[in-house]
Amino acid sequence: MHIATRSVHSGVYKDTAYNSVATPIYPSSTFFFDGIGRTSGYDYTRTANPTRDALAENLAALEGGAGAQVTNTGMSAIATVMFLLRPGDHVIAGHDIYGGTYRQMDAIFRGMGIDFDFVDMGDPENVRSAVKPNTRCIWIETPSNPLLNIVDIAATVTVARDCGAITVADNTFLSPYLQQPMEMGVDIVIHSTTKYLNGHSDVVGGAIICREADMAEQIAELVNALGTGCSPFDAFLVLRGVKTLAPRMETHQANAMALAQFLDGHAKVQRVYYPGLTSHRQYDLARKQSSGAGGMVSFDIDVSVDLGAFFDRLELFLLAESLGGPASLIEQVSSMSHASMPEAARVEAGISDQTIRVSVGLEHADDLIADMQRALDA
Ligand SMILES: *Cc1c(COP(=O)(O)O)cnc(C)c1O
Repeated sequence: MHIATRSVHSGVYKDTAYNSVATPIYPSSTFFFDGIGRTSGYDYTRTANPTRDALAENLAALEGGAGAQVTNTGMSAIATVMFLLRPGDHVIAGHDIYGGTYRQMDAIFRGMGIDFDFVDMGDPENVRSAVKPNTRCIWIETPSNPLLNIVDIAATVTVARDCGAITVADNTFLSPYLQQPMEMGVDIVIHSTTKYLNGHSDVVGGAIICREADMAEQIAELVNALGTGCSPFDAFLVLRGVKTLAPRMETHQANAMALAQFLDGHAKVQRVYYPGLTSHRQYDLARKQSSGAGGMVSFDIDVSVDLGAFFDRLELFLLAESLGGPASLIEQVSSMSHASMPEAARVEAGISDQTIRVSVGLEHADDLIADMQRALDA
């Protein structure tokens, strides 16, 4: 079945008492036993909860995994996956990944004895050159944040298999509606459900989807031991949001394409980063491995533009971090989403103070373009 259908129907019919169409919220922290060793299948919500499991089942169906866990943030999903590793293990990740991921790896897990190399993963040969005897994990984020560079998923999986490492893909930017990393051999997909999966800017959450059942079991044990599972209320909200994933992504994407085309021709814009434009240097690869370019557009604004005044003039684009909600959001990357990345690392990744990132929302494209035009031309 198509993903639009799966997102509506997977994992959701859990109320055998009343046949509720919406999955009930089970806020209970604990579940009573019918006798020693006889449970309903649930005993304590840190370990497992029916509302959380309904969402996990839905997301596993969307990504094509054997099992999933839903966590309280995207960062806790990433941390939980990192706990699969041991001191002395080596991880290869992109040099232009999400700033919070970079910080967690560099500042927290490096200090716990895990070795990291952050490389330009735009060329799979760079990844191959970074492989060491102790490489255990290759971390893929594509399109990357904020410059929308594309990592060749299939080629990277080949490098990982050759060296016996697992691959993890952060699929937050495109969502399973537009990109299916597991079809290309990826072992684990992670999400910040805060973004497109929930889609309404009213939850922070994460998810870990595993291709193989035994890895899903290991992740379930880690979520229980670390306590990174999300609350039943948040799971309910994300499940509610995910049912409209398909039509939302279509609208985000159509609006993003219209905005990217407008920006591409504008005199105050030096460069536009959007994988849906034929001018994107990896346009063919993006088309090959994804069914769409998504709703994120970045651009370098001309130095002649007074940034503070530009942001002030915008009425529809809210000056805010995050992405994937109904309202369009805009930000200066260096001072906002990527402030946690050291300046030298930002420069190496190609991010300057002129780099602007837009999460294109669900408004009408004409209104968005008119707002942007007014702010740029003033
Ligand atoms: C937001 C984001 C994260 C972190 O998720 P939180 O829900 O904010 O913890 C990780 N990866 C990407 C690509 C993101 O955009």
